[in-house]
Amino acid sequence: MSYCLNPNCLSPQNPDDAKCCQRCQSRLLLKDSPFWSIILANAYQDEKNKWYWALRPQVAEALEELGWV
Ligand SMILES: [Zn+2]
Repeated sequence: MSYCLNPNCLSPQNPDDAKCCQRCQSRLLLKDSPFWSIILANAYQDEKNKWYWALRPQVAEALEELGWV
């Protein structure tokens, strides 16, 4: 099962082989992704095995609304 990253999606559960949400066309969270990427951020690993973190846009906006950034 893959899960849609759109928090407003009406049908976030998608088949394993789906590349994007069948309901809203958003990116899917693949089942082997770290669970925290749902909540706060996406992480990327480059060819030197260095990790990069990126806040999800929704989280960045929420933090701005709260005045935390
Ligand atoms: Zn969706």
